[in-house]
Amino acid sequence: MEPLQRLADLMPETPGSLSVRALWREGRAIERRWLLGGWLATVAACIVLGLLTVREGWSGIPVDLGGAAAFLTFYPPIPLCLWWTLCFGWRWGAVPAWAATFVLAIDAGMAPAWAAVFACANPLGLGVLALGYRAVGAARGLRSLRAWLFFVPLCFVGAVFSSAGALIWNFSQDLAAERQLPIWQGWWLGAFLQSVLLGGPLMALTWPRLSRWIARRPALFTPPPSGRRAMGLGLLFAIVLAVQGYGLVSLGLGSLQLRAALASGDWSRLEEASRVMLSTAWVFFWVFTLIVLFVAQFGYQALSRWLRSTEALVTQLARVNAELEQRSRTDGLTGLANRMATEEGLRALLRTVRRYRTPSALLMLDIDHFKQVNDRHGHAAGDAVIRALAQVLKDASRDVDLPGRFGGEEFVIGLAHTDLAGARRFAERLRERIATTPVTLDGKDGGAATISYTVSIGVTLLRADDAGVEDSLRRADAAMYRAKQGGRNRVELDVEDTAAASSGPSVPDKS
Ligand code: GH3
Ligand code: MG
Ligand code: MG
Repeated sequence: MEPLQRLADLMPETPGSLSVRALWREGRAIERRWLLGGWLATVAACIVLGLLTVREGWSGIPVDLGGAAAFLTFYPPIPLCLWWTLCFGWRWGAVPAWAATFVLAIDAGMAPAWAAVFACANPLGLGVLALGYRAVGAARGLRSLRAWLFFVPLCFVGAVFSSAGALIWNFSQDLAAERQLPIWQGWWLGAFLQSVLLGGPLMALTWPRLSRWIARRPALFTPPPSGRRAMGLGLLFAIVLAVQGYGLVSLGLGSLQLRAALASGDWSRLEEASRVMLSTAWVFFWVFTLIVLFVAQFGYQALSRWLRSTEALVTQLARVNAELEQRSRTDGLTGLANRMATEEGLRALLRTVRRYRTPSALLMLDIDHFKQVNDRHGHAAGDAVIRALAQVLKDASRDVDLPGRFGGEEFVIGLAHTDLAGARRFAERLRERIATTPVTLDGKDGGAATISYTVSIGVTLLRADDAGVEDSLRRADAAMYRAKQGGRNRVELDVEDTAAASSGPSVPDKS
């Protein structure tokens, strides 16, 4: 349905995911080579880069963020896995992310069971990212401010989820209080900044070409699941959880360090812990600002989309209503006014007759021996004859006239501003035209059949003193009946009209 299609266009693109099975079955060799090869290379690169992060000490590096001391972890698998997730679906990013973390954890001596759980942190963050894009369907090309306004805060939420791993790490490594915050902060801040500063540009650079390819190869992608409302709710839940979790862990770890310093009574430790707590509080403030902005803009987007789709729905509804109204007044077979609409038109005509005392006439037509047409040529041929007659009526009527199908093979025409003599001339011309215009039908065997037919017509005037159009119709019907009785293919005038017409002109003479 076309209007529904238009509604669908209002919804922004929702990412589907690249299906391995479809790629294997329907992908071209070059596509398979690039995608699977590229992905395996990504998995290998992530494992190597993950090991380097630990061995080269790229985690929890203290940095000065405009006066606030913070810790950063440089973990290159993040932007790579983000790219695979956003372009091809969560699994494509989650597997290398999991593998890299699992390997580095084993390498660092973590027990395999712990490592397996620990490795889920980054896939979790990527899952939130994928969920966000599915729920909102924001542009992944990151070519507009709006796209970035969605991407950046979502990266934060994803990063907080990823950094759940830091807690497991801290716990499994049994770290001292003052070493825990750097790891946690380094993790989420590192994940966030790398997603935004490396993952974002990577998306912006590659998406234009990639999206064109994706649009050309829909068969390789599984369509996104429906149920946006649930996904939107899930996303909101994830945001709330991330913000709460973030606040709790940041402040919790900060105060842990502060308490440990207090207990030690070491002034320099206390000073350091206070400094960390202070900068944590400031980072906390900025994070909350970011999230409030995000939620506001998310709400605004949802609201404006809702308004747009409501407007589209209302417009569509109005159009459908008009269409229905039109249909309820039209005869399906002929496109003429149906009985209800014809009677309505005649009532209006009768009102003008009463008000302005101008004559208007009414013709009633019935096809002669129509049953025989059906019997000889079939019902479809009968329909074709009815349609042909309707066309003749349309052609013969002026635009002020009211031709309509009254039912079956019976038609009426209201003739505005037409006296009895005019109506009779019109009816005669019509009768003759119908009788001399046979209907040609294409037969099944390629030959053509010609059907000649005639009509009987009753004519009357709409009278100012008619109680309603029913009176006029009754007279027209009676006149038509006389035409049938008189041998068909005839025009008969209403008797009273005829009498009035013959006596009418003599009245003024006498006075
Ligand atoms: P008369 O000259 O007395 O009017 O004879 P007739 O055969 O036309 O008689 P009657 O009015 O009784 O028959 C009308 C027939 O028209 C009966 C019905 O099957 C047929 N008819 C009514 N509506 C349609 C239609 O929409 N399509 C077709 N094919 N036939 C129709
Ligand atoms: Mg008939
Ligand atoms: Mg009839």
